[in-house]
Amino acid sequence: MKNFGLDIWSNNNFIIEDGQIKLNYKSMPSILQIVEEIRSDDVRGPILLRFPHLIKRQIKSLYSYFDKAMTENSYNGNFNAVFPLKVNQFPHAVDAITSQGAQFNYGLEAGSKAELILAMSKTPSGAHITVNGFKDEEMITLGFIAAQSGHNLTITIEGLGELETIIEVAKKCDLKVPNIGIRVRLHSAGSGIWAKSGGMDAKFGLTSTEIIEAVRLLREENLLQHLSMIHFHIGSQMSDIAPLKRALREAGNIYAELKKMGASSLDSINIGGGLAVEYDQHTHSKSRNYSVEEFSSSVVFLLKEIMDAKNVKHPDIYTESGRFIVASHAVLITPVLELFTQDYQEKLLNFKEVNPPLIKELIDLNSLLNNKNCIEYLHDALDHMESILTLFDLGYIDLQDRSNAEILVHNIIKRALYLTSSNPTNELEQLQVRLQERYLINASIFQSLPDYWGLNQHFPVMPLHHLNATPIRAASLWDITCDSDGEIGFNPEKPLYLHDVNLDEEDYFLGFFNVGAYQETLGMNHNLFTHPSEYTVYINDTDYTITNKVESKSILDILESLGYNKDILSDKLKNDLLASEFITEKEKNDTLAKLELYLEQNGYLRTTN
Ligand code: PLP
Repeated sequence: MKNFGLDIWSNNNFIIEDGQIKLNYKSMPSILQIVEEIRSDDVRGPILLRFPHLIKRQIKSLYSYFDKAMTENSYNGNFNAVFPLKVNQFPHAVDAITSQGAQFNYGLEAGSKAELILAMSKTPSGAHITVNGFKDEEMITLGFIAAQSGHNLTITIEGLGELETIIEVAKKCDLKVPNIGIRVRLHSAGSGIWAKSGGMDAKFGLTSTEIIEAVRLLREENLLQHLSMIHFHIGSQMSDIAPLKRALREAGNIYAELKKMGASSLDSINIGGGLAVEYDQHTHSKSRNYSVEEFSSSVVFLLKEIMDAKNVKHPDIYTESGRFIVASHAVLITPVLELFTQDYQEKLLNFKEVNPPLIKELIDLNSLLNNKNCIEYLHDALDHMESILTLFDLGYIDLQDRSNAEILVHNIIKRALYLTSSNPTNELEQLQVRLQERYLINASIFQSLPDYWGLNQHFPVMPLHHLNATPIRAASLWDITCDSDGEIGFNPEKPLYLHDVNLDEEDYFLGFFNVGAYQETLGMNHNLFTHPSEYTVYINDTDYTITNKVESKSILDILESLGYNKDILSDKLKNDLLASEFITEKEKNDTLAKLELYLEQNGYLRTTN
């Protein structure tokens, strides 16, 4: 039995009980039970489950650790947080975020026009909206419209050109002027694979000379009273806390200097995102070297220290960490369609009346193998297999003998692995790695785990069931795209062992965890595999409810989203079929019905799994 690193990555959100992984919340349903209920409605292909209570848990933890740090440090400013929409813009994710965050006044961050429109439509009244990223006059005008509509919105300028546009828009219209923020370009850079957002060569932010110029311009245009925030972001998934501390010292001092320069309305520091998620399944705290508690107390402590030293009122603190908020809420479930060595099934043995001596020996080894002799018999079997392959190459035995030998030897290896699984020898471990099993999963890595494909980001993966049995097969996972990059190979440094199941007799499901951040919108339709069917699951004290079903797009809808006319496509297919000759009218109608059904189904595979 293995726990697949649950104690490392799951933050107690899940537990293993009765051989299944379960939600560690209220009625504690098993994920398998939820999946089976969904599949009983004839849903096939990958399934994405959203658990809103896990979003609430993260929001609550962020707010309570900052509250705690502020109380402990006698900090006088307030704490606010916004969710960066780029991390997950899907409707049922955003609805869960805004509804679970309402009691905390949790707001939204937008980085594009479309995200700004979404933020304006979805932000709970009174909650903050921050606007980052490059902006044109239209986007800035949208910010004015949002302020006019009553939103508490801050436009963060990424360069002086944007400030000039704000000034022009303010002159052109009589709309309410939104709060203005300045993104500062820090010399401190972040850490981790996403750390390209900080440092002097960063894509965004104003240098100190530009900040001074911005204040001059704002004062000259009588807009300085709208400057309320300075902002920085040193990169997502910050692995080390040290760069954040350097960035806070730098940004804190810039803030205090601006206050001295007369920016009297300036009252907030926005520290961007960066809070990391533990994705590692093998080694404790590999993804980050700090906890949320340390993160929040470092931010509060450092800002207080700087402000007290410069005799400046403590600013309100804003964060934009989104990965930390939503990564855990989504679990991707993929059925396993095939185990490639399942071709070696005992039922396929086909002995002759007289078998070659080596085959006879393999038959004996297979039937007499037990706890005590398994290593010795395994050595014998491997040795015989070598000889049989040589005999085959020399033409002394035929294909049937070779097939029988392969099945027998595979069976002996598997049974030896089982018998020694509680105490495997080095040799057996190496053998396991050499004889990797390939698990074909009914999903697309490009669509559902794009960061694995693009950045080699590991996501925790484990079976939903069989968890009271020791997994013995070194596993590599193949997706169903026609692309050899659609594979998560076996990595001896982060080994994944799965169970040896007979898929003719039972289903086997894998869950990929912490996939709620970035994966959904970054996912691509390679081979035209689209977003998996998704469901939101609310868990209560006695049961759970499944809502917000959004089935994976049908084949015709996928094609239509590319710009094809689905009616023209389906008419062409049907007309071609009807124009062909059928022997019976029934066959014609049945085939037409089949075609129509296929076009309305999603593009994932529909074998029994
Ligand atoms: N804020 C800004 C300005 C960002 O660019 C990003 C993403 O990189 C975030 C917030 C989100 O950060 P995270 O991925 O840590 O949630």
